[in-house]
Amino acid sequence: MGKIIAIANQKGGVGKTTTTVNLAACMAAAGKRTLLVDLDPQGNATQGVGIDKNALEASLYEVLVNEVNAADLIQATQWENLWALPTNRELVGAEIELVEVEKREFRLRTALQAIREQYDYIFIDCPPSLSLLTLNGLVAADGVLIALQCEYYALEGLSELLQTIMLVRDNLNPKLSVKGVLLTMYQHTNLSKQVMEDVREHLGDRVYETIIPRNVALSEAPSFGQPIIYYDLKSVGAQAYLALTREIISRG
Ligand code: ATP
Ligand code: MG
Repeated sequence: MGKIIAIANQKGGVGKTTTTVNLAACMAAAGKRTLLVDLDPQGNATQGVGIDKNALEASLYEVLVNEVNAADLIQATQWENLWALPTNRELVGAEIELVEVEKREFRLRTALQAIREQYDYIFIDCPPSLSLLTLNGLVAADGVLIALQCEYYALEGLSELLQTIMLVRDNLNPKLSVKGVLLTMYQHTNLSKQVMEDVREHLGDRVYETIIPRNVALSEAPSFGQPIIYYDLKSVGAQAYLALTREIISRG
């Protein structure tokens, strides 16, 4: 069952974290036991589900570097069915400290194996790089959700990302697949429309039907530490992430 999903794109600011937080919250609201894993030292996903990254006693760093059990660090959020494995700047050190370690790409995978049975879905928010941290995310995952911003350079870097996913599949994680490509920050402009058409032409049915529009509420919600469905359920952003959740559940 493909339930561990990494949200990735080495390009910055394309909507990875927004997607991870809101997809996780919608899945939890749909009654699925859901874990959000914050694999980005920026800690934005941690904050996005209302956990103060500056007040963590321990973070994902301890799991990756010191092999502390993930179960010891997972925190319940304010919302039913939604848990998080939080992160802060400390995680930057993991890149360096793991350099000499054997099987360093498998640290997250090993940590999640022990707990995966307890969840219906595990979503991993990857950092904007093809670093060792992202590799850990790809090795731990069953599938990758690629977030693509509807802007002129949307496809830039995509072939490098697909190549990395293929390398990981061939060498480290044979069952890894691209689960889907999600278009984000869509605006009603000719440019957004053109990008959408190009991406659909290139990637065909790997592109999700659901498109996430640019929506102010989606950019405001994180500063309140709330997923969009709790911040403004009626917003087009909330409705889009609910639609994406239904699409992912129905695709299986
Ligand atoms: P990074 O690469 O730095 O981790 P990211 O890919 O995780 O970035 P986000 O942090 O999700 O991207 O989004 C970048 C910025 O755009 C944020 O300020 C976020 O609030 C905003 N944003 C994301 N999606 C939308 C949207 N659909 N509508 C409006 N604003 C959005
Ligand atoms: Mg992010």
